[in-house]
Amino acid sequence: MKLSLKIKEVFVLVLLFIVSSMLAQSSGKFKVTLDAGHGDHDFGATYHGFIEKNIALGVVLKVGKILEQDPTIQVIYTRKNDSFIDLVERANIANRANANLFVSIHCNANKNQEAYGTETYVMGLSKSASSLEVAKKENEVIQMEKDYKTKYAGYNPNSPESLISATLAQEEYLDQSIEFASRIQDNFDVKLNRKVRGVKQAPFMVLHKAFMPRVLIEMGFISNKEEGAYLNSEEGQLNVAKSIADAIFRMKVEHFGGSMPVIEIQKSEKTTVKKDTVKTSSKETSKTSDNKPVDTTKVVYKVQVKASSSHVETKPENFNGLSKISFISEKGYYKYMYGETNDYNEAKMQLLEAKTRGYDSAFIVPFKNGQKISLNEALKSK
Ligand SMILES: [Zn+2]
Repeated sequence: MKLSLKIKEVFVLVLLFIVSSMLAQSSGKFKVTLDAGHGDHDFGATYHGFIEKNIALGVVLKVGKILEQDPTIQVIYTRKNDSFIDLVERANIANRANANLFVSIHCNANKNQEAYGTETYVMGLSKSASSLEVAKKENEVIQMEKDYKTKYAGYNPNSPESLISATLAQEEYLDQSIEFASRIQDNFDVKLNRKVRGVKQAPFMVLHKAFMPRVLIEMGFISNKEEGAYLNSEEGQLNVAKSIADAIFRMKVEHFGGSMPVIEIQKSEKTTVKKDTVKTSSKETSKTSDNKPVDTTKVVYKVQVKASSSHVETKPENFNGLSKISFISEKGYYKYMYGETNDYNEAKMQLLEAKTRGYDSAFIVPFKNGQKISLNEALKSK
């Protein structure tokens, strides 16, 4: 009797030890959920023989392979082969794993086949028609799922805005999501030499359902022949994957510790390069870019990145690659501002973008009728 009790006790202790060491091990890892968009009968976008679901999977597997070389990282895949996974299940895989980051990987497409460049999205409200269009396209797939009407009650796939009220409650992950998105776009820009269209906000179902810092990457337009060929190539995919993995490592080191591995990224060439030559016509800008006019009768937010007594030209080379720089002169100083928007959330994204470009002490400055006002006044006056 006594003996069997002892055996039982020992058994329980051993069990406890195993469980606790397992817990310690799993909680000790930085967990990344990689989500290759689409799959099986859902091809995503298809143009010129390039198929989004295949490119997304190709890149995801490459990102995963790089990350898995670090034993302190655990990679969770929503799919590792050509299978169909519901959008909500993709998010739930990340939720169940208690992932530190969720990365959904896609390719963009546009009827205007000249459009090219990369975008990284965070969850949120967007008043930009082109961002909403991208979200709508990526959300549409739920109509291929069984019982989508009950599963996504209250959501209308034709109107991604219907996700927005629920979104506002998820602000807690917004800052890190934007930071992550900025790092990805920054790598695409500086390390990969691609054209970046920036960090954007739009209501994606797959992001909406995941509860952690999360982004959706549109790696480029497969409707653009040259960019599509780049994304479809082994070499293109490998370097895009390295750029994404590098951004993931940076997030890990920043928020979780550890050291940064050296990842050699090969710069891309030709149209996939970032420089807007004459060829990036104003046609494309007016059709697909997010440069919506700012309403100057309302509050306008800018991000001050630098103050200096001497004047410098407001070109990107002088501002760590930031474009859209303006300046005001005040008390003998030139104050350089990045961006211009009526939307405070967008201003916060621009602030994080400025910070990831090295402007650590950048801050938001609200203006009304050309005069600086306080943030309190700004937020009250809407
Ligand atoms: Zn997609």
